[in-house]
Amino acid sequence: MATKFRRIGVLTSGGDAPGMNAAVRAVTRAALDKGVEVMGIYEGYKGLVHPNLRKFTARDVSNIVSRGGTTLLSDRCLEFKEEEGMQKAIKTCKDNQIDGIIAIGGDGTFRGATDLSVRGIPTIGIPATIDNDITSTEYSIGFDTAVNTAVELIDKLRDTCESHARCNVVEIMGRNAGWVALEAGIATGASAIVINEVAFDEEKVINEIIEAKKSGKRNFIVCIAEGVPAVLGDKLYSENFAKRFEEKTGIETKFVRPAHILRGGNPTMRDRLLATQLGSEAVKLLLDGQSDLVVGVRDDKIVSTEIGYALKLDRMYKGTLKDGDLDKYTNVQVAEMKIYCEKRNADLRALYEMAYEMAH
Ligand code: ADP
Repeated sequence: MATKFRRIGVLTSGGDAPGMNAAVRAVTRAALDKGVEVMGIYEGYKGLVHPNLRKFTARDVSNIVSRGGTTLLSDRCLEFKEEEGMQKAIKTCKDNQIDGIIAIGGDGTFRGATDLSVRGIPTIGIPATIDNDITSTEYSIGFDTAVNTAVELIDKLRDTCESHARCNVVEIMGRNAGWVALEAGIATGASAIVINEVAFDEEKVINEIIEAKKSGKRNFIVCIAEGVPAVLGDKLYSENFAKRFEEKTGIETKFVRPAHILRGGNPTMRDRLLATQLGSEAVKLLLDGQSDLVVGVRDDKIVSTEIGYALKLDRMYKGTLKDGDLDKYTNVQVAEMKIYCEKRNADLRALYEMAYEMAH
């Protein structure tokens, strides 16, 4: 592949996710394989604003494919959002002959990628977040690991719930998205799953659980997505739910919040594979002269989406579109966006309904 690129940079930014290291390794190795040098940029965009970067050889990314966290470190760099910080970042790219950047992270990271792209530094984003809340991709790096970690924890809780005829209410990270709580709940046989995307009838579910108890069921798991308390306006919703549950059912109930435990740990095979595929594709696109794109997966295929489009799609899915957001898109594009959002929502609801069928 003929390319004008001599050197690219790679960074991880925003919330960390297992598999970020595998993506950094994939980017580095794919670029080196094509004769392009790589600079590892530390602490996300901060490493560009306050230069903290070094040249990577293939050996600099040895033994990280299996490691959790991010060896490039991460940071939420507010300075980078201001024009002055942005200009410092661009200067760092120029001073270090960096012709393009691969930015691994979430929505905020992609906004930064667009800002660099429009200022002449071609940038490609790779989605990595355990929350799986990046609408333009069906899977983001870290999600599979987080679900598997939640499953392992809940399986353990369930063992002891069965021995003592108890319930465990587990609050599961995922920001406002219910994907981690939903999939972990299905895989562990949860008796109830509470997520923002689907209305929850607490009284009905509690009555069903009372009936299940009468039929001899001893262990109960309730998964609540992290974002539910904020949306319901009750910061202690999950703890309070556990108390109400105990009062109404007479089942001893414990509350558990694994929190950031779900963000750590070695990535699963699926996350390592996804990170490698997305890293390799991102380098291919960048060296091919593309910019301002985010890679992802749709229908089991590796795809790429213009970042502006991806961010609007995200807002459409989350119901947060602002006036004028869709102005630059054709009717056909808007219709495609709607179909995609409806399908994603329908897929989630179908999973939720299936979980409900299995619950008691
Ligand atoms: P995530 O990428 O996980 O969504 P953040 O929203 O914290 O995490 O974004 C990560 C970083 O991306 C921020 O610390 C900041 O440096 C950069 N960033 C976020 N939003 C913007 C923006 N609107 N413009 C430019 N850079 C941004």
